[in-house]
Amino acid sequence: MDRLYAPWRMAYIDQPDKDHPADGSGCIFCDKAAQDADDRNLIVHRGARAFVLLNLFPYNNGHLMIAPYRHTARLDDLEDAVTLEIMALAQQAQAALERAFHPQGYNLGMNLGAVAGAGIADHLHLHIVPRWNGDTNFMPVLADVKVLPDALENSARKLREAWGERENGSGGRSVE
Ligand SMILES: [Zn+2]
Repeated sequence: MDRLYAPWRMAYIDQPDKDHPADGSGCIFCDKAAQDADDRNLIVHRGARAFVLLNLFPYNNGHLMIAPYRHTARLDDLEDAVTLEIMALAQQAQAALERAFHPQGYNLGMNLGAVAGAGIADHLHLHIVPRWNGDTNFMPVLADVKVLPDALENSARKLREAWGERENGSGGRSVE
């Protein structure tokens, strides 16, 4: 039986150049955050210090990434407020995924450094991969299939709506 130990160990292959300057220019996380094109960039939520986007090459439907706006590779370089917000956004992401896709479990993880499997090692990000019973069975098949942009845009829209429902409800945790 196939086991998926670390589904977030996946290169984000839409990457023109791994040698990004330290200022973050040419970094897809910095670029997407700076652009006013959240629909096209599959950004589903923006917090004060970090933002949430769909992975363009997902392991599963609803595979999200949370990245700080500030360009840094080091977890120990993050301010406390940013660290807290990333985890708060992970909680919100779980709730939004719950509403939108009803997953049965989640994998959360970070790859720090290229040797650890980071596709974009210069700008750290937390992967959130929703899981369903039996999904490892079709993952190898899925991995060879190009996910249609329409499907991703549809997922992004559903997640934005689910996120909004949560924000309009009571009991939401926010660090903003
Ligand atoms: Zn960056």
